[in-house]
Amino acid sequence: MTTGAAPFLTVREITMDFGGIRALDGMGLELSQGEVKCIIGPNGCGKSTLFNVISGDLYPTSGQVLFNGDAITGLSPQKICRNGIARKFQIPSVFDDLTVAENIEIAMTSAAKHYAPFSLMRGGPDRSRYGPVLAETRLLEFGDKPAAELPHGIRQQLEIALLVVTDAQLLLLDEPTAGMTEDETDAIVHMIQDVRDRLGVAVLVIEHDMGFVRKLGSPLIVMMEGAVLREGDYAAISEDARIRQAYLGEID
Ligand code: ADP
Ligand code: MG
Repeated sequence: MTTGAAPFLTVREITMDFGGIRALDGMGLELSQGEVKCIIGPNGCGKSTLFNVISGDLYPTSGQVLFNGDAITGLSPQKICRNGIARKFQIPSVFDDLTVAENIEIAMTSAAKHYAPFSLMRGGPDRSRYGPVLAETRLLEFGDKPAAELPHGIRQQLEIALLVVTDAQLLLLDEPTAGMTEDETDAIVHMIQDVRDRLGVAVLVIEHDMGFVRKLGSPLIVMMEGAVLREGDYAAISEDARIRQAYLGEID
């Protein structure tokens, strides 16, 4: 064995059966600290199920998920979240009646409580870390607006910000740009890159929009029938005839 730090995230040989349906069939992947990877694949190939297994919302039929060297398979979603893996619906989601600033404040405060009683000494997440990231979004401009009044794209930025300010090390984003305009999509691309570059946060993002995938410029994992069909960068994947066929010409 070589020495060195344990891999950040390892998904190993995961199988997930729902009755007679095998949603995941030997799925595996690796992600390094601060790395962004995009998962693509046709509808029903198991992408969301994979996230459910990583987040602890589903217990797999077989296989293991390792995070920072520890097996997390079988831990509750709350424990996995506290370990630093953040998925949208696991944190208190957006409070519509509260402003953007209040929502962010509450997310930070609730994250601080997770460290109790040490939070008294630590003071919870280091708030100053997040200023530069928030400043790159349009969230400051909307700071005193109630969340209910936000345009769709800004609301998605808020949801991602609420994950980030809990001191998450890994974000799981399932189709974060669904229903967005091109400008809104570009803002999400920028936000993911900024969270990675400034905070060293890793992101796994499931996305259907190939324009988004190309702009993000991250390594791709192509799934098919519950397993990895191929990994590579956008250029390599977009030239693969099998993948082009599966996407029915959606790749330009
Ligand atoms: P994707 O996100 O790639 O579109 P999913 O992971 O949602 O695919 O689904 C993979 C397969 O598992 C599909 O056939 C889907 O119908 C099935 N499936 C997903 N969740 C459940 C569930 N809770 N119960 C039964 N079948 C499910
Ligand atoms: Mg899905």
